[in-house]
Amino acid sequence: MPCSLWPPINKEEYKGVWVYLERDGDKLKDVGLELLGKARELAAKLGGTEVGGVIVAGTEEMAREAIYHGADKVVIVENPDLRVYTPAEYAEAIAKVVAKYKPEVFLIGATKRGRELAAYIANTLITGITADCTALDIDPKTRDLLQIRPTFGGTQLATIRTPQRRPQMASVRPGVFPKPPRDTSRVGQIIVEKVEISRRRTRLISVEKRLEKDVADLPPVESSDIVVAGGRGLGSAEGFKLLIELAKLLGGTVGASLMAVRAGWVPHNRQIGQTGKTIRPKLYIAVGISGAIQHLMGMQESKTVIAINPDPHAPIMQNADYAVVADYKQVIPLLIEELRKI
Ligand code: FAD
Repeated sequence: MPCSLWPPINKEEYKGVWVYLERDGDKLKDVGLELLGKARELAAKLGGTEVGGVIVAGTEEMAREAIYHGADKVVIVENPDLRVYTPAEYAEAIAKVVAKYKPEVFLIGATKRGRELAAYIANTLITGITADCTALDIDPKTRDLLQIRPTFGGTQLATIRTPQRRPQMASVRPGVFPKPPRDTSRVGQIIVEKVEISRRRTRLISVEKRLEKDVADLPPVESSDIVVAGGRGLGSAEGFKLLIELAKLLGGTVGASLMAVRAGWVPHNRQIGQTGKTIRPKLYIAVGISGAIQHLMGMQESKTVIAINPDPHAPIMQNADYAVVADYKQVIPLLIEELRKI
């Protein structure tokens, strides 16, 4: 039964199968291209309707790539404020394009961002969304999108329909569908749409690079004899770069306090303490860490502890064999310089 609060829609106005094409730097993520392949299949079952794509702040090169992978039409949303991803604003822009072009089906890759956007967009368009579909099909009688996904802990497959509303929305994880072959002979239409955002709900203050890749190359904390650990006192992910360099020169690895992990500077598998790893290295260098009891619980069995902290009363200083009362920005570069000479 349709809800009386829903604004009425004319299903006849909705045509085509469209895909949100997420960017990965200056190229498109594979999941969008995979969905274009599926969209072509669904479009054929819907009587040869068009396949469209939406890219936010994309380039013509990206749009051409989408056409080579199956799109007939690609809309590039243009708005200088949308160069950096913010969910509410991206969702508003995409929803506006979808509301204008009225696709019958709209698909989104279930990436971290895609999941977030899918919910916002469905809510804005007052339509349903089935997350993490593993198969999609069309009911030829009703034109319903059959949204198939595991349920009850993966023991059964559910087929979900959203027959009352349009577009019918589904998200699909990367790698579920094959990427269609790249056909450079395909031609299509590229449309640049200037989309205004009604109200900025998110303001970008700064961009902090996560160091996951740099850290992933280092040995795990639990099997290293030397651990250089950083805390909130480092002030930023940049500070961790110095620790990574020092750890490499010492042949060790990096660890972190909960606060450094929470700040997003390093992944959780680097956290030392009560809710992190318990380690007993030969040398533990605590940099910008206060030494809360929960942190001490994870490293107190270290053979030798060096703490670097401008606060001589920080608890870590009482638990250290060598307490260096200083700003890490002065001490660590000197240590690195000396070690480089060896
Ligand atoms: P802060 O306590 O803010 O300390 C930052 C330190 O940096 C300060 O001592 C400051 O003097 C110093 N500093 C500032 N500027 C500089 C500079 N330029 N150079 C050098 N030093 C500087 N914490 C963990 O670490 N691991 C856990 O597993 C853990 N589990 C927890 C579980 C529970 C149930 C709870 C309640 C808490 C847990 N915590 C854990 C959190 C813990 O209580 C502390 O909040 C946390 O350890 C503090 O992190 P920090 O030392 O990085 O930050």
